[in-house]
Amino acid sequence: MASTLISVSLLILRFAGCWIQAVSRSDGEPASGPDYNVAQDPLQMEKDLREKQLFQESLNEVWLKDNSKRCPSCGTHIQKIMGCNKMTCFSCQTHFCWICLKVLNRTDPYSHFRESNPCNGQLNADIQ
Ligand SMILES: [Zn+2]
Ligand SMILES: [Zn+2]
Repeated sequence: MASTLISVSLLILRFAGCWIQAVSRSDGEPASGPDYNVAQDPLQMEKDLREKQLFQESLNEVWLKDNSKRCPSCGTHIQKIMGCNKMTCFSCQTHFCWICLKVLNRTDPYSHFRESNPCNGQLNADIQ
């Protein structure tokens, strides 16, 4: 019984101590709050800038990935600047479809865009 009483009163003392500390801290240093926020801002700006740069870099990667494909025959990187989706590899002269990267019939490469496949009618579709 006695030990319980002692520990309860110790607990009250501890709480009282915390309460006094909390009051004196918030009363004694009113400027600590705003100063802390100001100090955080440049760091936050730097972080935002880094995130923006990372985002930009990932966009560039996506752009390269989307604008450069490999020839299905020889693996040369091909970039489509403009024109239709019937591509001719400048390295091995293979005709291929920019959309599905299928090697196309040399005598009639355009037939690919008339056959029943997902690329039907997509010859002049603006696909990067
Ligand atoms: Zn090629
Ligand atoms: Zn195709």
